[in-house]
Amino acid sequence: MDNKTKKEQVCDWCSSLAEEEQHTVFWELPDGTRAIEISNVPCIHCSSCGMIYSTDKITKDIEDQLLLVDTKQIPKTINYNELMSLPRLLKRNYFDFFS
Ligand SMILES: [Zn+2]
Repeated sequence: MDNKTKKEQVCDWCSSLAEEEQHTVFWELPDGTRAIEISNVPCIHCSSCGMIYSTDKITKDIEDQLLLVDTKQIPKTINYNELMSLPRLLKRNYFDFFS
């Protein structure tokens, strides 16, 4: 099974074999106040049809994270791993709700 050594994916658009790559994406914050630039986001790049897209799982991970962190702390540009390691508000500021 050679496919296991290299991360290959099937393109959602044309069903050809596509590769995983990291790309910079622009993302609008859930509150719509501004957009941030997220670098090194795992994306699928299909050389057959030229599509570059992030998977549903990655998209959902980013959306969930943006809902749970203090978006005011996010700089204009952040990399994917930094974004995912930001502390989540619900934990850190739990007691603030009662003050
Ligand atoms: Zn394709």
